[in-house]
Amino acid sequence: MLRLGRWRLHSLVDGTFSVDGGSAFGIVPRALWARDLPPDGDNRIRLAARSLLAVDEASGRRVLVDAGFGDCLDAHFAAHHSVERPGGGLRAGLRALGVEAGDVTDLVLTHLHLEHAGGLVRPGAGGRPELAFPRAAVHVQRRAWQWAHAPSEHDRAAFRPALLEPLGHGSQLHLVDGELELFPGLELVVSEGHTVAQQLPRFRGEGESHLTCCGDLVPTAAHLRPAWGMAFDLLPLTAIEEKKVLLAEALEDDGILLFGHDPAIAACRLSERDGHPAFREAVEV
Ligand SMILES: [Zn+2]
Repeated sequence: MLRLGRWRLHSLVDGTFSVDGGSAFGIVPRALWARDLPPDGDNRIRLAARSLLAVDEASGRRVLVDAGFGDCLDAHFAAHHSVERPGGGLRAGLRALGVEAGDVTDLVLTHLHLEHAGGLVRPGAGGRPELAFPRAAVHVQRRAWQWAHAPSEHDRAAFRPALLEPLGHGSQLHLVDGELELFPGLELVVSEGHTVAQQLPRFRGEGESHLTCCGDLVPTAAHLRPAWGMAFDLLPLTAIEEKKVLLAEALEDDGILLFGHDPAIAACRLSERDGHPAFREAVEV
């Protein structure tokens, strides 16, 4: 847990999963990334699907950033990626913090790839997906929403439009256009390198202090190196420039970066090494 101004922040892991190391690190040679995240016999690395709960007692707001895989996964995907939930999943994690799904007032989805947005729904009557957070306004960038319904051949496998249907048919969807302050002390930074209109929530405390959820722009601590992008990135050169800005801001303000997929490090602070921002220390959130 971390206090930041009005916010009480808790990181939560929905589950862990395996992905091909090459797809997680793009052009980076295996000999380099394997030092940070050793692969298994099938060249897969183990990642986490991490969310963040932000509670503002004064306003009663309970904001959840990203929803993990959820429970509507197709069996093929779950088996292929060896999805496991040693902690019982996101809802169990929330309950341990005294928060039921119905208490979540706002869900901010960084983007709509399955491991970030799948938990938006849960199996309802007859196994049909229904909204997992029945009272939450769901904040999604408008262009990300449009892209998820008409993705390219490059990234089509990352989306499950059928799981978005209950949101599209209801009244809880809040489409956001660009960067803005969603609530006092919560800004949305928009990034285009990984996917169309990814939004990175930035929680602000007093003074310059802040914590930014890095989404898949910087999914693990290993990806702090600007050129270490994912093979999934739609615009790799844009991702490099956006990452440099994100890191420079975090270095200047001693800000905290939260990783959506690092299996061991939830968040970190940076220091300068060889003239560049680099990992300094892990931060418990
Ligand atoms: Zn992604």
